[in-house]
Amino acid sequence: MDTRTDTAARPAPRALATEAVHAGREDLAGLGLHAPPLDLSTTYPSYDSRAEAARIDEFAATGARLDGPPVYARLDNPTTARFETALARLEGTEAAVAFASGMAALTATLLVRASMGLRHVVAVRPLYGCSDHLLTAGLLGSEVTWVDPAGIEEAIRPDTGLVMVESPANPTLAELDLRAIAHACGSVPLLADNTFATPVLQRPVESGARLVLHSATKYLGGHGDVLGGVVACDEEFARKLRQVRFATGGVLHPLAGYLLLRGLSTLPVRVRAASATAAELARRLGADPRVTRVHYPRLGGAMVAFEVDGDRVEPHEVIAGVRLITPAVSLGSVDTLIQHPASISHRIVAETDRQASGVSDRLLRMSVGLEDVEDLWQDLDAALSARGTAEDRAPGQRSARTEDRHVPA
Ligand SMILES: *Cc1c(COP(=O)(O)O)cnc(C)c1O
Repeated sequence: MDTRTDTAARPAPRALATEAVHAGREDLAGLGLHAPPLDLSTTYPSYDSRAEAARIDEFAATGARLDGPPVYARLDNPTTARFETALARLEGTEAAVAFASGMAALTATLLVRASMGLRHVVAVRPLYGCSDHLLTAGLLGSEVTWVDPAGIEEAIRPDTGLVMVESPANPTLAELDLRAIAHACGSVPLLADNTFATPVLQRPVESGARLVLHSATKYLGGHGDVLGGVVACDEEFARKLRQVRFATGGVLHPLAGYLLLRGLSTLPVRVRAASATAAELARRLGADPRVTRVHYPRLGGAMVAFEVDGDRVEPHEVIAGVRLITPAVSLGSVDTLIQHPASISHRIVAETDRQASGVSDRLLRMSVGLEDVEDLWQDLDAALSARGTAEDRAPGQRSARTEDRHVPA
């Protein structure tokens, strides 16, 4: 009997803020520790090879987490397991399985279904650019049908393995009715990418999603210094994900697992603080004549997208004009980032598909951090007035304008 699943020992539910700092750490006091231990072992000694053989057989047969040491680090890691336990608790799922990146997590999920002969995916645009590309290019032998939410039920075929959505979506922050979508999915698992909302603002399993994907690189890590991905789900699906992870090797490094566990402890505080600032910036942008449209989710959150009036300022001028805000892809860090999806995060999506899903060339996507709202507004306001001032850059902050490329390095 498997005694390591989280279900067996799960305590009564506690508030999210409490879980964020305690989940995955329950045994520490008993170990005489306060900070979680970091286990960097790649292998684990055993003098009993018959017992090891039995344990390996059991993992191959079931995908359940092993009792005792993991045999080899591609199979499991105790530090990463703490992060998985904690994230599962926050998302309200039985289990979670961590991967080297968000894309590795999505890959493993697609492979689980493909290995069952279910290669067809129904998906709603927009998705994160590389998720869109992975499906569109069929790199993993999958075939995708892109639909509006209303077309999901009709698009499902006998070989459909997954319905995939993002809400709020990257980069338009479009929101979907997850409950209605889960209903339309019938028995096909709904995969909701919850990277933008985080479990602080939304728990997709409560709306009927079976799989919750995160690029842990973003809010879960929260400090822009760790790449990771995770799928929160029921134990049955988690077992298949662990087997695929072992077979394909997209494991999270234990140091990343350590940092992600640490990141979770401040997740509720970070998301709430940044969301309050983002809501205020969205309000000011909405009242600004240089901005034609602001996208800010009803759910809240720390992401703001906005379209600029091209007669007054180009998106590239705003990117070149920021000083406090960092012009960079990615999101969810303590500092504020801005980027131009059509140039960067969604560049890999064909222009027609991009535009049809609302990713206009005038759209900018901003990830609001923990800075003071007035300092951020001042920077944004100056960047929106940046026409013709791109030369006036701080040292080391020269833009990649054509003239600049002729300047010897
Ligand atoms: C960044 C991102 C991903 C991919 O995650 P990586 O950790 O970069 O592999 C997937 N989904 C969304 C919504 C993202 O923003």
